[in-house]
Amino acid sequence: MDNNKKYSSATLCVQAGWTPSKGEPRVLPIYQSTTFKYDTSEQMAKLFDLEETGYFYTRLQNPTNDAVAAKIAALEGGVAAMLTSSGQAANFYAMFNICQCGDHFVTSSNIYGGTYNLFGVTMKKFGIECTFVDPNASEEELQKAFRPNTKALFGETISNPGGEVLDIEKFARVAHRNGVPLIVDNTFPTPINCRPFEWGADIVTHSTTKYMDGHAVSVGGAIVDSGNFDWEAYPDKFPGLTQPDESYHGLAYTKAFGRNAYITKATAQLMRDLGSIQSPQNAFLLNLGLETLHLRMPRHCENAQVVAEWLEANPKVKWVNYCGLPNNRYNALAKKYMPNGSCGVIAFGLEGTREDAIKFMDRLKFIAIVTHVADARTCVLHPASHTHRQLTDEQLREAGVAPDLIRLSVGIEDVNDIIADIEQALS
Ligand SMILES: *Cc1c(COP(=O)(O)O)cnc(C)c1O
Repeated sequence: MDNNKKYSSATLCVQAGWTPSKGEPRVLPIYQSTTFKYDTSEQMAKLFDLEETGYFYTRLQNPTNDAVAAKIAALEGGVAAMLTSSGQAANFYAMFNICQCGDHFVTSSNIYGGTYNLFGVTMKKFGIECTFVDPNASEEELQKAFRPNTKALFGETISNPGGEVLDIEKFARVAHRNGVPLIVDNTFPTPINCRPFEWGADIVTHSTTKYMDGHAVSVGGAIVDSGNFDWEAYPDKFPGLTQPDESYHGLAYTKAFGRNAYITKATAQLMRDLGSIQSPQNAFLLNLGLETLHLRMPRHCENAQVVAEWLEANPKVKWVNYCGLPNNRYNALAKKYMPNGSCGVIAFGLEGTREDAIKFMDRLKFIAIVTHVADARTCVLHPASHTHRQLTDEQLREAGVAPDLIRLSVGIEDVNDIIADIEQALS
């Protein structure tokens, strides 16, 4: 590809990241090697000192992973990206790269359950505290959550499982007024439907396990940096980036790497020490998924829209939350940030009891009950009897999950067959 040309998302999905030269494989190869060879000891020493770039050990960098990360960076419009072993690792690294013991961050409370637990329980054990805020609160309300030691603001473009849409511009304004970056988990819309950097977000994370892979074959994550946040403007707030790193002979990331400082630090320091790498094999599979992301996302959205409208019109269905529905609370935000469609995930509740919801799911034929969302096959999950089954109805409501909430992830099969399966299970 011509690096100076701006290509559309469809072309980037197919072509970005791997540009072979004469005689090299047309398809991105799997560099199934833990290590890389050099001729002299001095060459190797320069890599260890970050004086030269190059591969030496796959825990830090691998060419297959880097090609796929570059494709994701191109799709999001960022300057650099890294792959991680899971979406959980991506959100942890994204935050831990700028927060240390004694620091604080602010996060939307409408986020994935795993992230909620990571932020509210596990990171607390590292001495990093967070405040959960209602993302629909006013800017004045959000402002109250900030402290002098606050280092970031976090939210999900579309929340999992609730389907709430984040007002990215509002969040970016509040973050920047407080001199901190906005980190957005963009898993559900993917860069095909929303590019948060265009609305002021500074860092984007992904669980690539979902639509990016799209076939439910490999767990993975990614962090992308826009390169836009000026860490040097707040040198005391972000010492890990702006001040000398003792573990690299006093190198300061912002001075040595400029707009690549954030991802370079996450790679050279966090990946080196914590080691949550994505395997090159999984990165290869992720790349196959990315090659058709621009074809799959519109189909997921089209199908979900038809299914959501059908559910809404069905008397056995009590409520439906899908931001594509005109009367939905988040429809205006969805139209603004995702004019071409949001995602394929719908939340709804049936008339009747918890048991009725379970009976409905058990009667489905090809729509499977699985702990997964956002892949080619339509699937359902009932958080109250699966992921959140230890909670009472009361506790469920506190966690933002209605006891009757069924999460339906609409796949790319024929929509008439999907509706027919739902219809026979309801009757
Ligand atoms: C699934 C998910 C995660 C966690 O990703 P894993 O790949 O399962 O670790 C994080 N954020 C969102 C929005 C998710 O849907």
